[in-house]
Amino acid sequence: MYPVIAIDGPAASGKSTVAKEIAAQLGYTYVNTGVMYRAVTWWMLEKGVNILEPAAVEAAIKQAKTECWVKDGETFFRIDGVDPLPHVRDGRVNDAVSKVASVPLVRQILVAAQQALAAQAPLVMEGRDIGTVVFPKSPCKLFIDADPAVREARRNKQGEADVIAKRDKEDRARAASPLARAEDAFLIDSSYLGVAEVVGQAIEQVKRVGMKPVK
Ligand code: C5P
Repeated sequence: MYPVIAIDGPAASGKSTVAKEIAAQLGYTYVNTGVMYRAVTWWMLEKGVNILEPAAVEAAIKQAKTECWVKDGETFFRIDGVDPLPHVRDGRVNDAVSKVASVPLVRQILVAAQQALAAQAPLVMEGRDIGTVVFPKSPCKLFIDADPAVREARRNKQGEADVIAKRDKEDRARAASPLARAEDAFLIDSSYLGVAEVVGQAIEQVKRVGMKPVK
C-alpha cells in the first residue's frame, strides 16, 4: 500500500485547492471523492431513481457498475461505462448528493473503491470521511474549515448555484460516516488566510509527520 494524505472539511472550505497543490508538490495522485458521490447521484437522477427513498437508492446502486482507477497521476471514474464528469456540478446534483451519500450501501461501495486506489499510487484524497473511515490509519490527516459565511461567499463567487449550508447540515447529521474531524487531524482554518498560507501550513504538517515526495 502507498501512503495516503487524508483531507476532510465542509463544502467550499478550500480543501480541493490545498489537496491539488499538495499532490502536485509531492508527486502524489489527487483523488476527489466528492466527485464519486456526485457521479452516483447524477446516474440515479438520470435513471429516475427516487433518491428520497433509501431502499430505492440501495436497489439502484446494486445494479450500477462502478469503476475507479489511477493512471499517470490522474483518477478516473466510470459508472456503467460512462464518464460522469461533465455532469457532476449540475444544480440538481448539488441538491441531491447529500441524500444519496447518506445511504450506507452507497458509502460501503465507494469507500471500498477509494481504499483500493492506495494499491495503485501515493494519494492525496479529499472528502468528508477520509481521516475517520476510509484511511483512519493515515499518519497525515488534515481538516480544513472556514466560517460558513466565508464559504457561502466563495461558492457564489465561483458562480455555482450550490446549497452548501443545507449540504453541510445533512453531511454532519447523517448516521453513516458523518462529516467530522478525526481526533488526530491537523486543523487549518482557512477563513482569513490566502491560498499560499493554507498550502504552506498543510505542507509543514506533511513534513512534520515525515511524508516524503515521490522521487
Ligand atoms: O466534495 P463535494 O462538496 O463535491 O462533495 C459532494 C457531496 O458528496 C458532499 O456534500 C457529501 O454529501 C458527499 N461526500 C461524502 N463523503 C465524501 C465526499 C463527499 O459524503 N468522502
